[in-house]
Amino acid sequence: MDQAAMYKLSYGLFVLTSSFGGKESGCIINTAGQVTVEPNRISIAVSKSNFTHDLVRDSGKFNLSVLSQDADFEIFRHFGFQSGRTVDKFADYAHCQRSPSGLYYITKGTNAYISAKVEQSIDLGTHTLFIAAVEDMQVLAETPSATYEYYHASIKPQPEQQKTGGKTAWRCVICGYIYEGEELPADFICPWCKHPASDFEKTTI
Ligand code: FE
Repeated sequence: MDQAAMYKLSYGLFVLTSSFGGKESGCIINTAGQVTVEPNRISIAVSKSNFTHDLVRDSGKFNLSVLSQDADFEIFRHFGFQSGRTVDKFADYAHCQRSPSGLYYITKGTNAYISAKVEQSIDLGTHTLFIAAVEDMQVLAETPSATYEYYHASIKPQPEQQKTGGKTAWRCVICGYIYEGEELPADFICPWCKHPASDFEKTTI
């Protein structure tokens, strides 16, 4: 069995936003898709480690902003590499508006938003699969959507190549962070994106 086959699946990238009990937050997800047409439903799978997961679970509603190819790395840093449990991501965030549902959607680096109301939740252990009815949506721009592959090739900072060196290092495949050293500790957590050692690949710098 070749695990790399999983990398051949294509994914979009989205900012998932929700609100509950006076708290607002958002996170980056790559698992959203339309599941039925009549009625129009979408599904999202969200890690329980995300604060936004709890807001969706408790409020039963969310907005999905579709990231486009003009999204910069700062959007990924802002919504992906810090937790809404400790940071209010909307405290001074200028690039958002409220949809008719009252939730924020993202207006910069996005080409559409979809507002949805949760109909079913399926506990998948690490994640919850939410199936939701679409209640409102708007196209914001004609810029092509950013895929996960596009993010890795064109948005994520590329490690600088050093001509002298040849030192062993480990690169986070999610965000590009470089750990210098022969061995990466098994319990290492990426300081930028908080992904585990299993998301690092060996490289040379
Ligand atoms: Fe990382």
